[in-house]
Amino acid sequence: MERLIPVSDQFDILSEYKNTPIGDLLCYHNLGKFMSPEEKAKILIGMCMDNRKHLRIPDNFAFIIRTGGANLRYSEFKVSYAISVGGVKHIALIAHNHCGMVNLNSNKKLFIEGLVENGGWNQQEALKHFEQYSSKFEIVNELDFVVSEAKRMRKRYPKITIAPLMYILEDNKLYQIEE
Ligand SMILES: [Zn+2]
Repeated sequence: MERLIPVSDQFDILSEYKNTPIGDLLCYHNLGKFMSPEEKAKILIGMCMDNRKHLRIPDNFAFIIRTGGANLRYSEFKVSYAISVGGVKHIALIAHNHCGMVNLNSNKKLFIEGLVENGGWNQQEALKHFEQYSSKFEIVNELDFVVSEAKRMRKRYPKITIAPLMYILEDNKLYQIEE
């Protein structure tokens, strides 16, 4: 975890994010900055669907796309919409530790049994479903994945500022990442 940069003071914010909606996000969430509702979205936030985290942000501040592992590879049209129609110029990609998308294969049995038991699928369909999609959504390491996603998206949207961030479940704080 040596690549994480905590934000416990506004001076901790990296220069490239200072006075941007990414810096604002860090101030609202980590530093308890006073919040007033925004007129329109300032930022697109991509974050994991995991239930263990929520952000402290003002009303109307952000478009939010939640997916397993904060993986936006299959949400590109929605990203494009937030940029084109929504007019956002900043994206925060928020990974978190203990993510269920890491080492998905270890949950294969549970996934299949659960889909049969809870979802009403038959065994064969559930197995096929897992095998068809798990490799698309599995990530090896949260930190490396979010950094590589940020790099990929910077190439795709060269005029947009994109910050990979990490949410640590133990303290519910956002951390910057030294790239
Ligand atoms: Zn997750």
